Amino acid sequence: MNNLDPNLLERLGSKLDVERLLRHLDTLSEADLANLVQRQSRPPREARPYTAPAPDNDFYEFFDRQLSEEQQRVRRVVRHFMLETVQPVANDYWERGEMPFELVQPMAAMLREALGDRPAERYCSDPLTTGLVSLEIPRVDPSLGTFLGVHWGLCLVSIHLFGSAEQKERWFGPLERFEKIGSWALTEPEHGSDAAAGLETTARREGDTWTLDGAKKWSGNATFADVTVIWAKDVADGQVKGFLVEKGTPGFHVEKLHGKIAKRAVQNVMIQLRGVKVPETSRLPGVNSFQDVATQLGAARAGVSWEACGMAMGLYEHTLQYCTERIQFGRPIAGFQLVQESLVRMLGNVVAIQGFVLGMADCYDDPRRIHERASLAKVYCVDKMRETAQIGRGLLGGNGILLEHHVARLFADAEAVYSYEGSREMNVLIVGRAITGLSAFL
Ligand SMILES: Cc1cc2nc3c(=O)[nH]c(=O)nc-3n(C[C@H](O)[C@H](O)[C@H](O)COP(=O)(O)OP(=O)(O)OC[C@H]3O[C@@H](n4cnc5c(N)ncnc54)[C@H](O)[C@@H]3O)c2cc1C
Repeated sequence: MNNLDPNLLERLGSKLDVERLLRHLDTLSEADLANLVQRQSRPPREARPYTAPAPDNDFYEFFDRQLSEEQQRVRRVVRHFMLETVQPVANDYWERGEMPFELVQPMAAMLREALGDRPAERYCSDPLTTGLVSLEIPRVDPSLGTFLGVHWGLCLVSIHLFGSAEQKERWFGPLERFEKIGSWALTEPEHGSDAAAGLETTARREGDTWTLDGAKKWSGNATFADVTVIWAKDVADGQVKGFLVEKGTPGFHVEKLHGKIAKRAVQNVMIQLRGVKVPETSRLPGVNSFQDVATQLGAARAGVSWEACGMAMGLYEHTLQYCTERIQFGRPIAGFQLVQESLVRMLGNVVAIQGFVLGMADCYDDPRRIHERASLAKVYCVDKMRETAQIGRGLLGGNGILLEHHVARLFADAEAVYSYEGSREMNVLIVGRAITGLSAFL
């Protein structure tokens, strides 16, 4: 009786009838008592060694079954680089709001290894492979995904689609090799969703010189870009035209936006254009109206759906790993039913997004419908990715708002993806118009 703690007995007494329990114990045989003691001294079931299965986020084996060996190889090259080189430094750059310039040349080398000697040519001509690259980069670091999305996906692709032979000769190679970096400026401080009709930046031609006046907002990479594609309205015919404006051009002022809560490593900007003079040879001759820009935006939206896919996969992986390691009530939280329900919802979202983007890739060859198909993919994939981010962030408890487990960064970045390349509402209206034949924009 020396070991009996009176406080413990008192607490026990408040929960059960101790006298009755002791009377009952008295009636037990020696063998039953020994059995009972042995059962009580066994470690609880959950405390036994537990090895979590490797996360399987290709649950339906879409990628395993549908991708060629070459496409699998591209994924492996990008994934290896992102995990080994980028993941260890991604949180730090994000927190400081700085572009990881040390990664730019290694990234160029990785893309050469993944896509071959002319990586940007393949990027422009092989949408499924481009989609895989656009998935694997943001799976680890969405900020770096946006860096490439603006540099190649918007700037280089504009030159590829609309540039003159001389412009391609001058810019394509250096942009492809990351010797020069590109930016792309459509959105304005007062015009985002209504950019198609609302652009206020003007282009005025006198002889062979154009003068650009106005302002642009957001344009990724523009603080350090060597060339920025500026979209402006020609005062003569009212049509939108594209111009290549080089860093340091007089009247071209760039200021970094501060205080962002998402994609913090991406350098977004405010641009002022005050009497910027560019020669006619800097105008993109393949653009005749906003319709041309819209075609390019359709492909870019498809890219955002791939990005959402990568982010959802990354969120699921980090969350599942955390749940198998975090012990509460003496067991990994992954063993609780409510936690499993949340993990299964996350996985369901991941599989649905994967099916969406791979299905979309199957019909890239129909340019008439890429626009509305990309918009539907953007709406659905980003909605489901954002929901996945919210569930994952919740499952990490307080640690869900700390960068160290990566979920917080992806959770915050989801908010930028939700709004760019056309907000959710704009893409809904594009699909709504396609399926009803009625435009509800105005
Ligand atoms: C991280 C980041 C990077 C970006 N990078 C670039 C870049 O490199 N280059 C570039 O040009 N732009 C870039 N953007 C800008 C981006 O494309 C715009 O933010 C986007 O198009 C939305 O425009 P807005 O922010 O002006 O919102 P607004 O157009 O002001 O919209 C505000 C809200 O109103 C809603 N809304 C507007 N009109 C309607 C309507 N008719 N019916 C229903 N709802 C409506 C919108 O859906 C939205 O919810 C970037 C943005 C972000 C956040």
